Amino acid sequence: MSSNPVSEPQPAGADRAQLLQVFDALLQPERFKDYGPNGLQVEGKPVIRKIVSGVTASRALIEAAIDVQADAIFVHHGLFWRGQDGRVTGWMKQRLQRLLAHDINLFAYHLPLDAHPVLGNNAQLGVQLGWVAQAQFGEQDLGFLGGWADGRAPVSAQALARHLENRLQRPVVSVEGLQSAIQKIAWCSGGAQGYFEAAIAAGAQAFITGEISEPQAHLARECGVSFLACGHHATERYGAPAVAAQVAEQFGISHAFIDIDNPA
Ligand SMILES: [Zn+2]
Repeated sequence: MSSNPVSEPQPAGADRAQLLQVFDALLQPERFKDYGPNGLQVEGKPVIRKIVSGVTASRALIEAAIDVQADAIFVHHGLFWRGQDGRVTGWMKQRLQRLLAHDINLFAYHLPLDAHPVLGNNAQLGVQLGWVAQAQFGEQDLGFLGGWADGRAPVSAQALARHLENRLQRPVVSVEGLQSAIQKIAWCSGGAQGYFEAAIAAGAQAFITGEISEPQAHLARECGVSFLACGHHATERYGAPAVAAQVAEQFGISHAFIDIDNPA
């Protein structure tokens, strides 16, 4: 422990525009048709020494970033989405007011963060769950299709659900298909229940995502492919810290992931 806090080395800091360039080069937002703007959503101070990553730019995350004196926040779900009415009132005012008052930059990458082949939500979820992707499927190639990285024998839907609950530390909604031995697994993080039919067409024996809606339960039973919903938040916790940590290291600045628990 240092007795003289003045001697603590201060990271030199990253230029905001350079940081944005590196995020953009890594995640290539121009390749995607998305529901909101990717990149710098709220401009803060020009030099960044500390960056916090999280899933969603919620008020709780912003306040946690203020507490640790972050200069920037990097998230998967930013503030602005197509279809919003655009007024800065209520919760939007509360969030923006805190960012602007503390001059905190907000970087947000949605689909580009899901899709990155190594650091993205899907790739990192695969790492957490012990899967390797062999192919991609579905709209904008966002779905991943693969199997067990350790080449283990096919598992039952119940065993798969238990595995997911253990690794993600939360309950899983499971609708079993007909196939008793699951080897070919498809996954897509977040609210990707709409990818189920594409997963079935791609030959998956089970599909893992964050959320389930009513029609998918019937499709699982009728098409024989298991559907396992593990939580939108729980499946999208891994991409933002992976990207932010790598870029922070590149610039020699500090990074911390802050998980704001979300049951959904
Ligand atoms: Zn999401």
